[in-house]
Amino acid sequence: MSVTEPQPEALVAALADRYGVPADHVLATRGSDEGIDLLTRVFCRAGQDAVLHCPPTFGMYKVAAQAQGADVVSVTRSRESGFALDAGLLVDALRADDRVRLVHLTSPNNPTGDRVSENLLQAVLFASQDRALVVVDEAYAEFCPGCSYADRITDFPNLVVLRTLSKAWGSAGLRCGAVLAQPEVIGLLRRIIAPYPLATPVVSLALRALQPDGVTRQEELVQAIARNKKRLVSLLEGRPFVRQLGPGEANFVRVQGDDAAELLQFSASRGVILRGFPGDAALRDCVRISVGSNADLDALETVLDAWEKEPS
Ligand SMILES: *Cc1c(COP(=O)(O)O)cnc(C)c1O
Repeated sequence: MSVTEPQPEALVAALADRYGVPADHVLATRGSDEGIDLLTRVFCRAGQDAVLHCPPTFGMYKVAAQAQGADVVSVTRSRESGFALDAGLLVDALRADDRVRLVHLTSPNNPTGDRVSENLLQAVLFASQDRALVVVDEAYAEFCPGCSYADRITDFPNLVVLRTLSKAWGSAGLRCGAVLAQPEVIGLLRRIIAPYPLATPVVSLALRALQPDGVTRQEELVQAIARNKKRLVSLLEGRPFVRQLGPGEANFVRVQGDDAAELLQFSASRGVILRGFPGDAALRDCVRISVGSNADLDALETVLDAWEKEPS
């Protein structure tokens, strides 16, 4: 690649092909994070507009809104319902607040693992018509076959889908993602994105990942994770400290249990790093465990066996 392009044509074509959308519906970005930032800055006026999100969820929607000076409307997932989304609450919140310009849905959601159902998406798209974009963040969609709404963006003028090479492609360091939306939306985002956002080495590596052998490698990785996830779930099931298990649709499992903080410390001291949420009251007893390799699962099993024998 000799010439730098604002939106490298070959990469845009490869992303469009991968996600099954026309090339003029694609904006290549520095990861999904840049997509979230651009959408917030284009569609939310400081001090006037708002974004809606559904915590517990990915933190960037709120961070980007606050940086822009937009308000944040939270439709909280209830612990009692296992953190499920509630279409009625979402529609009510949209009706009650006409400042909302972006509705952030995440499918599968991080860290709860649940996907957005077709019915819920339809209800939210309808309630948002002519006033807000519905942004479905599909960072983990590869782990949930048949889950993606990418091919629906041509049907709905206010639907936006975010994809990334960071998760299922194991290429978070590459900083390459895509906004999929109607050409009008893509055109507005292009007005404020940096003139040459993707460095040529990034473009070359992303193109290589998206070649047939790269795709095969990615599919093998996703299959290995699906197998290992079954093993992870079965090695957690029935353990006395596990009160609730949320296998979800992504490459991690959510465990609700007693003494979550102590378990995190115990496992970390034995070299197994689990993710806790000490700063989030709704997730105080939750631990997120990424699926990992067979060796990772062996190490986890050893730690959990030891933890079980620990006098509490
Ligand atoms: C990791 C993650 C992202 C960020 O992905 P990048 O493409 O690396 O910026 C976006 N959304 C969700 C839900 C994530 O978990």
